[in-house]
Amino acid sequence: MSTPRTAVYPGSFDPPTVGHLDILARALHSTAFDNIVIAIVRNPNKKSLFTIDERAAMLREAFEANPALHDALNAGRLQIDAFEGLLVSYAKAQRATAIIRGLRAVSDYEYELQMAHMNRRLFPGAETLFFMARDEYSYVSSRLTKEVAFMGGDVRGLVPENVYAALMAKVRDAGV
Ligand code: ADP
Repeated sequence: MSTPRTAVYPGSFDPPTVGHLDILARALHSTAFDNIVIAIVRNPNKKSLFTIDERAAMLREAFEANPALHDALNAGRLQIDAFEGLLVSYAKAQRATAIIRGLRAVSDYEYELQMAHMNRRLFPGAETLFFMARDEYSYVSSRLTKEVAFMGGDVRGLVPENVYAALMAKVRDAGV
């Protein structure tokens, strides 16, 4: 049996958005990889709204509503994990041959280019592969979604329904 082709999709996912799910569905559909591990970055220096466990649970619940992602999760093609420290160390431990990232706008490009070069230098065994954001999601980011939600704007449709409910609960808890 040939070695499974594993890709790591790293990110903060704080919270997961429709853009993240779209990248995942398209990456799975591309059949470029046998497995995708969603790797939630544990960064003690970055303030997050949701805990790692909350983010993992939200992803899992969001997949329930998406047949392709749900099937992939059940078939073990999709996994949810968390890591801390160097992405390449984690990718190496996972025996990953690819790192998936999404590109939304030119503003993403500069940072992503630097990261991809640095990661290849550190671990040439994994190639960074970029998926272009779907045009209608190209302005969707976790950060902007949170900002708008906390200022009372309507973010329904920018995040999966279960994430919307969880985000609204955080807004209420904050007394906004
Ligand atoms: P990070 O903090 O590592 O950028 P994010 O959770 O914000 O983590 O994003 C993870 C990955 O998903 C990044 O490659 C990002 O460019 C991509 N991404 C985020 N939002 C979208 C979107 N709307 N469409 C496509 N890709 C996206």
